[in-house]
Amino acid sequence: MPRPNRFTNVLRIGPVQVGTHYDGRGRTKHVAACTAPGCDFSADYHGRAAAELAARTHRCNP
Ligand SMILES: [Zn+2]
Repeated sequence: MPRPNRFTNVLRIGPVQVGTHYDGRGRTKHVAACTAPGCDFSADYHGRAAAELAARTHRCNP
C-alpha cells in the first residue's frame, strides 16, 4: 500500500491496520491495510467506522 505521510490513530484488528491520514487537500481518509504475508488487501474509506468494519470482516486470501 502507499505509505501516507501522516498516519494517525492507528488501530490493529487482527492482521489489519486501520489508520487515519490527511490527503494534503484538507480531507481525512481512512485506510484499512492487511499486514499478513501474501495478503495485499488495502482500501480507502470515507468513514472511520467503515474502515474498522472492513478490518473486522476481512479474511485473508488463501
Ligand atoms: Zn489479509
